[in-house]
Amino acid sequence: MTAHETDKYVYDFAEGNKDLKDLLGGKGANLAEMTNLGLPVPPGFTITTGACQAYLATGREPDGLAGQIEAHLEALERAMGRRLGDPHDPLLVSVRSGARFSMPGMMETVLNVGLNDRSVVGLSNQAGRNDRFAWDSYRRLIQMFGKTVCEVPGEEFEHALDEAKRVKGTHDDLDLDADDLRGLVETYKKIFAKHTGREFPQEPREQLDLAIRAVFESWNAERAILYRRQERIPADLGTAVNVVAMVFGNLGPDSGTGVAFTRDPGSGAQGIYGDYLANAQGEDVVAGIRNTVPLQELERLDKTSYDQLLDIMARLEGHYQDLCDIEFTIERGKLWMLQTRVGKRTAAAAFVIAGQLVDEGLIDLDEALHRVNGAQLAQLMFPRFQLDHGIEAVATGIGASPGAASGAVVFTSARAVELAAEGKAVILVRRETNPDDLNGMIAAQGILTSRGGKTSHAAVVARGMGKTCVSGADEIEVNVPAKRFTVGGHTVAEGDVVSIDGTTGKVYLGEVPVTPSEVVQYFEGTLDPERTDDALVRAVHRIMTHADTRRRLAVRTNADTGADAARARRFGAEGIGLCRTEHMFLGDRRELVERLILAATDADRTDALAALLPLQRQDFVEIFREMAGLPVTVRLIDPPLHEFLPPLEQLAVNVAVAQERGEDVAKEEALLAAVRRMHEENPMLGLRGVRLGLVIPGLFAMQVRAIAEAAVAVTRDGGTACPEIMVPLVGAVQELETVRAEAEKIIAEVVGDSGVEVLIGTMIEVPRAALTAGQIAEAAQFFSFGTNDLTQMGWGFSRDDVEGAFFWRYLELGIFGISPFESIDRDGVGRLIRIAAEEGRAARPGLKLGVCGEHGGDPDSVHFFHEVGLDYVSCSPFRVPVARLEAGRAAIETTGSDSR
Ligand code: ADP
Ligand code: MG
Ligand code: MG
Repeated sequence: MTAHETDKYVYDFAEGNKDLKDLLGGKGANLAEMTNLGLPVPPGFTITTGACQAYLATGREPDGLAGQIEAHLEALERAMGRRLGDPHDPLLVSVRSGARFSMPGMMETVLNVGLNDRSVVGLSNQAGRNDRFAWDSYRRLIQMFGKTVCEVPGEEFEHALDEAKRVKGTHDDLDLDADDLRGLVETYKKIFAKHTGREFPQEPREQLDLAIRAVFESWNAERAILYRRQERIPADLGTAVNVVAMVFGNLGPDSGTGVAFTRDPGSGAQGIYGDYLANAQGEDVVAGIRNTVPLQELERLDKTSYDQLLDIMARLEGHYQDLCDIEFTIERGKLWMLQTRVGKRTAAAAFVIAGQLVDEGLIDLDEALHRVNGAQLAQLMFPRFQLDHGIEAVATGIGASPGAASGAVVFTSARAVELAAEGKAVILVRRETNPDDLNGMIAAQGILTSRGGKTSHAAVVARGMGKTCVSGADEIEVNVPAKRFTVGGHTVAEGDVVSIDGTTGKVYLGEVPVTPSEVVQYFEGTLDPERTDDALVRAVHRIMTHADTRRRLAVRTNADTGADAARARRFGAEGIGLCRTEHMFLGDRRELVERLILAATDADRTDALAALLPLQRQDFVEIFREMAGLPVTVRLIDPPLHEFLPPLEQLAVNVAVAQERGEDVAKEEALLAAVRRMHEENPMLGLRGVRLGLVIPGLFAMQVRAIAEAAVAVTRDGGTACPEIMVPLVGAVQELETVRAEAEKIIAEVVGDSGVEVLIGTMIEVPRAALTAGQIAEAAQFFSFGTNDLTQMGWGFSRDDVEGAFFWRYLELGIFGISPFESIDRDGVGRLIRIAAEEGRAARPGLKLGVCGEHGGDPDSVHFFHEVGLDYVSCSPFRVPVARLEAGRAAIETTGSDSR
């Protein structure tokens, strides 16, 4: 006997429970849970995901499955007192897919299985000679079965239905009587036979087996595969299949069907939220054929069922300790539960509900923290459109990159650049974007496309740039040559203003006013959580406070100015993890930098550096003051020097023009020569970072001196400055040793007996540095992982070049689940970090480890940095609260449980 013969592939609802989602899928596990709670669930059974996996691997049903289905079907028939498809009193079943993770609309369900030419009569009798109902159920079966099981084009059935209504002179399905529907069944059968080359199967068990097989196969339908890639759902899970005795909501006015939430999934407010449709089957609610009524109406229609439903909803909430959504049907005054699950909700509702459940004593604060996440918090921090003036969206697409943006519509990249140069806010509107649109996307406030999903070029590039983007707004007709688009009767021409919401995907005409979110006001300190009656702010405050007590990772910020430092501090930053010094060489200081670069003699260079010194010192004084008492990591100058000089082409033209006019061009020529000399094929891999410091005498020394002098000045004024000097782009310990020897001399000289302590450490951003971290740690008092460069160099691609060029394709193909610039690549780049952390700490116990770079504010990456044992993460000021929250979540999540 092989192991497979003993495998259990079929579970009665009474045998399962809610923790068996891997085996029974979400729907099956929860149907079992409700059954065992004693709730009125129609009897049925679940075929496991394991059976599906076996079927997909071999192309046939595994041994033993048919027999097990037979046995469970017989038990179901006994329980119902009816046989499947019995001509006189038929049992009918639904065959429903249900995977581990919900994949809305991705897979198939077939209702009314068991109907055929004979049992349709039995069904009618059973329903009190309701012929209309019976023939309607039969035509629905042929339609659903034909479409999902046998791939008959759905439009053919729809056309036939439309034709029947046209002949009858009506637009409403309900006007078709039993005879019309009987005729329609004949037409449907012909359509079925034409496309499949066989008659519609009359044998109930064959219908059932084919439907089960179709659900198995729907796991590998193209749209399901695409959906899984986008949602990062593993491809090999398979779906379970639920076979459920049919109950009928379409038996008359005392029947009906509905959906409900146990709290408002939009705001989190307590109360009952749902829709009800009398005299209907489930699919009618979703299809929106008729208008539903608010669930509260049911109280008037059928108070007994209504009260029972409220009672069940309260029990489900108490049992799942969370908001639940449910699907139910009432058959002639008898309530049946058809589905429940922990319901999806908006970001705001997630926080509010978590807070409420703590108040209600259902969960503790750790659990509340576990149930919210940084992506939700980030969403709550974006400015929002103020929509209280009756402003309606004209189109809805996919919220591809969050934010709220308004601007004049433009249709080409070039026009976007032109208008932006005039200081205008623009929204770039395209059917879809391509790499040629990059400049326009950079210039625009937001991007709107009529095609493409979350992995389209527009969506990927916009997210990379942090730009608001709505993609796939397909109600919009874009006409680029005519410079206009049309939507629902409106025409929008170039220059007209529109507003787009990258969170909800909504598009509005005109400029919609924007308000800062309450959550940001709270972080800014302008909204007192103890005083406000804003439930969201109170919940956020409570959960953030708890996250802070739980987290082990410190959270710092990336800030180059006193103003940024001050804001980040309000947002909870505990220091600066990356203070870039390059902006301090721009603006009106450019001239000094040019002098430095062009210096012909040591004296020229020393002069230029001496002029820069006091300016740099003042920059640091401001930052140290704002961050008094907290560590400030200052990175010595990093980018290639040519970034501080005018572009080569422009200089060449200037020189030529000036020569033509006979002007004195000695200075321009020298500059041009320098730019030519410094031209690099791959500047990101060229003369930059520590290499620059070792080549230009006095450059790093000037910066070190400015830092030390500023720290001493702030300390003498009664403040506490804690500078940490960080050397960029180190690949070998010798580089660091050389810089450090010189720096230590200067520091000793400047600091004297002021009590100021200056640490010297390095970035780890070149793969070689990660791999020789043990050696480098001998010379470094701290490491900070520069994950952006480490990703670029680890993968061997430059971000600026690749995001627009091919990332969309890699995402589409599933080579990346997510851009490695958005979320750390755990397997590759992450491995470099792990090695460096371990070997660095082995060489120097207690070595301080941090990360700077935007990964420090990415939820999943924060969890990784926690796991690897870093001391802190550093991110942009707006990401600080997200990092605090996720660091707290990482600390309480011992099992790596998912939050999907
Ligand atoms: P989905 O996963 O797309 O929600 P379901 O399997 O829940 O698909 O089926 C869709 C709808 O079909 C349900 O909401 C319900 O209204 C109806 N339905 C499913 N099974 C039954 C049944 N046994 N009796 C009556 N209606 C059913
Ligand atoms: Mg459902
Ligand atoms: Mg770098």
